[in-house]
Amino acid sequence: MRPRKTRQIKLGNVRIGGGAPVSVQSMTKTDTKDVKATVEQIKRLQNLGCQIIRVAIKDSPSAQAIGKIKSKLKIPLVADIHFNYKHALESVNSGCDAIRINPGNIKRKEHVLKVIEVCKGRKIPIRVGLNSGSAGVSAAGGLVNLAKNYLKIFEREKFHDIIISLKASDVNTTIEAYRKMARFCNYPFHLGVTATGTGYGGIVKSAIGIGTLLAEGIGDTIRVSLTTNPEEEVRIAKYILQSLGLRRFYPDVISCPTCGRCQVDLQKIVNDFLQKLSVISHQLSVKPQKIALMGCEVNGPGEAKDADIGIAFGKNSGILFRKGRVTKKIKAKNAVKEIIKLI
Ligand code: SF4
Repeated sequence: MRPRKTRQIKLGNVRIGGGAPVSVQSMTKTDTKDVKATVEQIKRLQNLGCQIIRVAIKDSPSAQAIGKIKSKLKIPLVADIHFNYKHALESVNSGCDAIRINPGNIKRKEHVLKVIEVCKGRKIPIRVGLNSGSAGVSAAGGLVNLAKNYLKIFEREKFHDIIISLKASDVNTTIEAYRKMARFCNYPFHLGVTATGTGYGGIVKSAIGIGTLLAEGIGDTIRVSLTTNPEEEVRIAKYILQSLGLRRFYPDVISCPTCGRCQVDLQKIVNDFLQKLSVISHQLSVKPQKIALMGCEVNGPGEAKDADIGIAFGKNSGILFRKGRVTKKIKAKNAVKEIIKLI
């Protein structure tokens, strides 16, 4: 996986592209004017490790709320602008760290020029955020052509603090659009598959769309878009990055699917372990570890040996491994307690 070479953009205190770690972002689902609810939601996202927050700016009071939200938080805020370019100007005045504008609904050149002018003045970046739902095109080529034409306005103004997104609700279209765009420019990309829905379907679509591109070295910041609470989006985004070895957030828990050979209730052991781990995880000062919980002697010893802490279970008991060495035999019913103690 060789990362695509891009410019580096600074969004508040987060670097995007140019070799920076792929960052995690999300969007609040509160009414931005409701400063209290919005700040509370952002704090929860920040505690989970979200690095950039986008807020919906649908009117002037929402734009003005940015200043109040910023006075309570340090995390970079992106103002999400559609239809009315003036809300971008108001958001910049209110202190946002970046603007997202949508070429599908802010089309007039003089309006785009105004947004560029204020962002240039404050040295803040602009995300050119295309979305199949509002672009009026649904094919990858159409999204890319729209983006290319829009970018000409920015380049004539010598404005290069740009991040690009080309999100479609169809996974293949999204992948194709980003691949095409990657051949055309060196601006960093914000990756996402839009409107993926909820539950397993949404998670799988997001993981395949974002993950395929990241595996090709394409993508500099990601947002998982789900019809659920934004905390879930952040957790899933982190799992996508960790699965590809791009970032480390959680201990890697390896457990087998079990089969007729398994002689312990591995599902119960793993669930119990994950629940206890979630309680202590914020206290962990050591780097996330690899923990293997395996059902029998077929693949168990190999995986357990390879992990920082591992157990290969047998009949009602298991062999405990630490850093590749067998340390002792433990009862299955004590397994979770033992591992938590070691962590
Ligand atoms: S490790 Fe053993 S119990 Fe687990 S799936 Fe493989 S063979 Fe079955």
